[in-house]
Amino acid sequence: ANGTGTGHEDVGSAARAHFVFVPLMYQGHVIPAVDTALLLATHGSLASVVATPSNAARIRPTVDLARRSGLPIRLVELPLDCAAEGLPEGADDVDKIPLGLEVNYFRALTLLAGPLERHLRADPPYPTCIVSDFCHAWTVQVAASLKVPRLCFFSMCAFCVLCQHNVERYNSYDAVADDNEPVVVPGVERRIEVTRAQAPGFFRAPGFEKLADEIELALAESDGIVMNSFLEMEPEYVAGYASARNMRLWTIGPVSLYHQHAETLAKRGNTTTAVDADECLRWLQGKEPSTVIYVSFGSIVHADPKQTIELGLGLEASGHPFVWVLKNPEQYGEDVREFLRDLEERVAGRGMLIRGWSPQVLILNHAAVGGFVTHCGWNSTLEAIAAGLPVVTWPHFSDQFLNEKLAVEVLGIGVSVGIKEPLLWVAKKGLVVGREVVEAAVRSIMDGGGEGEERRRKALALSEKARAAVQNGGSSLGNLLDLIKHFEVDAGGCTTH
Ligand code: UDP
Repeated sequence: ANGTGTGHEDVGSAARAHFVFVPLMYQGHVIPAVDTALLLATHGSLASVVATPSNAARIRPTVDLARRSGLPIRLVELPLDCAAEGLPEGADDVDKIPLGLEVNYFRALTLLAGPLERHLRADPPYPTCIVSDFCHAWTVQVAASLKVPRLCFFSMCAFCVLCQHNVERYNSYDAVADDNEPVVVPGVERRIEVTRAQAPGFFRAPGFEKLADEIELALAESDGIVMNSFLEMEPEYVAGYASARNMRLWTIGPVSLYHQHAETLAKRGNTTTAVDADECLRWLQGKEPSTVIYVSFGSIVHADPKQTIELGLGLEASGHPFVWVLKNPEQYGEDVREFLRDLEERVAGRGMLIRGWSPQVLILNHAAVGGFVTHCGWNSTLEAIAAGLPVVTWPHFSDQFLNEKLAVEVLGIGVSVGIKEPLLWVAKKGLVVGREVVEAAVRSIMDGGGEGEERRRKALALSEKARAAVQNGGSSLGNLLDLIKHFEVDAGGCTTH
């Protein structure tokens, strides 16, 4: 292990809790885990974040900055044995996992158990608690062997995990032959319909059966849940999920609100952004308030070439200024590249294309930005909520369809582009959403009108509640302090089992 250990963080009181975060090494899981670790460190706990080399490289600038400002936070770098599971070297960077070998990646992650345990035994202070991504079933054995509690970390909302839990617990899909036939989610007051295609259950996919069962078992056995959400947004679902699991659930979000400075925001989630943060802010500075639409599909989705062109034409036709993030521009053929160059010329001054990683939260919080076309990854959805923005919802896979339902049906802040079936990691189906649908959806959230204004009003009201939740006296900050207190009492390696 390559831990960065010595220093001020070891000098605390004996009762100080030491939280060890083991995030799933995807950006959408690592980013909120690091933010939560920073929050705990801000309030006096020691926080360690475990990461494989390429992920460690992405978060080191954030951790170093925090350490320089005196926060007790550590990065624990552990190599991933890619070869043991037939993965190419460097495949601890999820962008480098060959298609079809994702399950090998998850198997390789389980090999971290031994090195992690050895590191935690050898490098004091002894952990008080392991905060494991819920996808890491293997951390159960590590925690048991160390005799410390294991909390599950969710970068998902309670609405999503409760709906998913209930359809599985009540076997709702048993009665339907067709994956696209809607079923009503049992055990929640509001009428919510889902299909097996949209919400099959976490890792309920061919090849992942064993992993899915292990994850469910590990979740059922865990000692509590830490969730990047906030109570006031979804009180009945937070209470419902805590009660369904019969465990303590600490909502501590939105964790993105931890960042108050452009410098930390620009570093969040990546070593380098594809665009200079200052340049981006200068560009936004020239725009009227709430007129710019931000478009991004997160850190995993690879867009189909035809769909990319159609989306570009839809944005152009909407007439609104836009910032459009293209995650993997190098994957496009010359036709798409040429289209993008021509588009940039036609919309010069009105449209900004970011090819690569964007400083998303920095952009979302700029006064010029007025809406977000999102794939409904939970972090992006919650970042939009924290920024008070209505959303155009364009889910692809995983929890994204349920997040869309939360935004559109429960919170009333979204307009859907109408995706019915998952588009999986890569949008294999070619063109799914026409340019006129993009144009209409963007206009509908940006152009005001009765419904548009209502959505914006609701988004702003939610943002106020989100901000209040992380302030003194707020529910999320209260939960965070409670979490620290809960484990300080038991510090010293005792179990709370
Ligand atoms: N993100 C970013 N810049 C990008 C793409 C993503 O800062 O160019 C951040 C975004 O703010 C969010 C996370 O990466 O915190 C993506 O997580 P999300 O749950 O939205 O989607 P995922 O990437 O897991 O599909």
